[in-house]
Amino acid sequence: MNSATMAPVFPALTAEQKKELSEIAQRIVEPGKGILAADESVGTMGSRLKRINVENVEENRRLFRDLLFTADPSLNKCIGGVILFHETLYQKSRNGTPFPKLLKDLGIVVGIKVDKGTAPLAGTDGETTTQGLDGLAERCAQYKKDGADFAKWRCVLKISDSAPSSLSIRENANVLARYASICQQNGLVPIVEPEILSDGSHDLQRCQYETEKVLSAVYAALIEHHVYLEGTLLKPNMVTGGQSYSQKYTPQDVAMATVTALRRTVPPAVPGICFLSGGQSEEEASLNLNAMNSCSLVRPWRVSFSYGRALQASALSAWLGKSENEKAAQEAFLKRAKINGLATLGQYVPSGSSDSASSQSLFQPSYTY
Ligand code: 13P
Repeated sequence: MNSATMAPVFPALTAEQKKELSEIAQRIVEPGKGILAADESVGTMGSRLKRINVENVEENRRLFRDLLFTADPSLNKCIGGVILFHETLYQKSRNGTPFPKLLKDLGIVVGIKVDKGTAPLAGTDGETTTQGLDGLAERCAQYKKDGADFAKWRCVLKISDSAPSSLSIRENANVLARYASICQQNGLVPIVEPEILSDGSHDLQRCQYETEKVLSAVYAALIEHHVYLEGTLLKPNMVTGGQSYSQKYTPQDVAMATVTALRRTVPPAVPGICFLSGGQSEEEASLNLNAMNSCSLVRPWRVSFSYGRALQASALSAWLGKSENEKAAQEAFLKRAKINGLATLGQYVPSGSSDSASSQSLFQPSYTY
């Protein structure tokens, strides 16, 4: 038998494990659906709450997540998965239902952030790797028992004169692959997130070039680690100009550059690509996603969203921590969720009267999560 037709000697996953993983991944990115990233760490949530003068205590974090998850049962038409932070996975809705059960009852897949944040790579221009591999298998096994079916791990890269360096590209690709492999062994679909920050004065072409370099390294590492691509999702940055670049690109420019980069690097076996919003305004993130799903390039994967800021900003501004504003906050959130659902189908037609809150930039320098 020639080696190309031989089954692997040490299979990484059984046929049943593969089936489960690919079914989970596909459910999350069914047509019209994307992901709500509600997995802000306590510190990140604190900076969000501070802006609306709400104290960063567990009950306020719970209250805000509760209003999002209970916005309306129709949420399950446009949200296929919700990523939770450890604390939130073990919290309950006001009627006593644990959040994972509440989401599952709606048919929404429960996800969990499993990385432990970034750490510096010495001798680089402020580049980082991401920590959290120690004890990861045990944590994944426990999260699976407690209701999670997918996970997220964010790696951060940046563009400067000397970055992303080959060290940071290699190190981050490898740690993402190791994380993905551990998740799959424990029944969790890994969201692979190599985020290139939009900080900087680079143009669109530079961002495209670096995105292709980073993604090709990520897929080489995933394949080397025997990661089952059909049971993964990718969460990349969109290809845009840097925050301080003078020229403004149109959603069509962003769509062509982004889809071109993805077509060159992401195997068709990957079921879905769910973008992060990366500091874009709510409206910009929706228009860019819509442009990708209406551009002329063939896309072998679902192209969807996994937004944090771009799904929650107007809801937070409407809420202000007051119970009398809950309905308005829920409506603001539902509005963005529905728009992004339409954008995954290339069917979002802006009304022309977009409110000022949704057009506000959500950029924060050197964003941590
Ligand atoms: P933003 O959409 O706010 O960039 O965040 C998404 C996320 O989950 C980052 O890991």
